[in-house]
Amino acid sequence: MDACLTVEREVDKVLGKFQVVQNYSERETDYMLQNLQEIREKLLRCSSNSEDEIGARHKSMLRDLMKKVKDSTMKISSDHKELHSSVSKVGKAIDKNFYSDLSSMSEDSTIDVPEKMKLINEVICEHFLRHGMLDIADALIKDAHLDIENEKKEPFIEINRILSALKERNLQPALQWTFMHRERLEAQRSSLEFKLHRLQFIELLKQGPENQREALLYSRNFAPFAERHEQELQILMGSLLFVRQGLENSPYVHLLDQVSWLEIGDIFTRDACSLLGLSIDSPLSVSLNAGCAAIPALHNIKHVMQQRQCTGVWCSNDELPIEIDLGNEYRYHSLFACPILRQQSTESNPAMRLACGHAISRDSLNKLSNGNKIKCPYCPIESNPSHAKQLYF
Ligand SMILES: [Zn+2]
Repeated sequence: MDACLTVEREVDKVLGKFQVVQNYSERETDYMLQNLQEIREKLLRCSSNSEDEIGARHKSMLRDLMKKVKDSTMKISSDHKELHSSVSKVGKAIDKNFYSDLSSMSEDSTIDVPEKMKLINEVICEHFLRHGMLDIADALIKDAHLDIENEKKEPFIEINRILSALKERNLQPALQWTFMHRERLEAQRSSLEFKLHRLQFIELLKQGPENQREALLYSRNFAPFAERHEQELQILMGSLLFVRQGLENSPYVHLLDQVSWLEIGDIFTRDACSLLGLSIDSPLSVSLNAGCAAIPALHNIKHVMQQRQCTGVWCSNDELPIEIDLGNEYRYHSLFACPILRQQSTESNPAMRLACGHAISRDSLNKLSNGNKIKCPYCPIESNPSHAKQLYF
């Protein structure tokens, strides 16, 4: 964070200088143009009468002005040159404050294999598909010889079509989609369809008293949601009373909040992704963000290892030397690490619950068992190893 602030200070300095130069050059240019205009008019007036009148006075005025123009342009160009040094200071501040050598934190061999390269290309391709950049995704599929079928592309194409319609305040494609998937959306307790109908209803209310009847008729669409959204429906129905005087002058003014339109896209993406069994964020952005969050900690540990001359400790390609907490956002699955063996549980070595309630891995259970007895390493109650039960997360 300090590094960012230091660079930001340098950037602010440059911007300040830019402003000074800009103000000066604008003022001077205006002034010179104005003078030129005045002289031009004077000369035009003279020439229309008699050419002889362009006398010594005008000549000296022109000479003065030319000198002034020359001086000002010289000053502007030298100010401009001075900016270069300030700009280059920003570059130096970036070099000084940010690590540029990240090679020790990556291992080429982890991606330098055709199969892994293919996986990376697929993840990149999926990212493009998710963001509606279909032409780029198609180009990547062709160039990287990826095997992505149209079936896989279709859900993304549909989601993007609906999202762009929502951005243009067209609710119809989204409503059709939710109607088609109503049962499955209901099963995951989604309120997407209700929220879409709510927005459509509010749009009708906004159109004034002449659409009041239409709004009332539209409210029939709320019937399936009456139970779950009772309170919200009462508010929507109450707002009908104020259509004549305008919702903006009523206690229901909050219904017009534009935030609902911003939210609906996010709600749609979340519910559609979960329905299609996709993660909300693309795997590419998750990996990138997780990597960026982990780099400072990895850089620090590398520094410590170098100082203590124990760089050889971190040589495993698929394991980090320290545990990095990326926060709840990046926590997807519960993991069990055996407190005895200090290893993550696997399918062949799952977590086992002893009769006392404490959990250890199956390997530890086998190691600690003595005949038909195991002494819990925690409480330490003795129990029969065969009474231990496998835990599922
Ligand atoms: Zn115990």
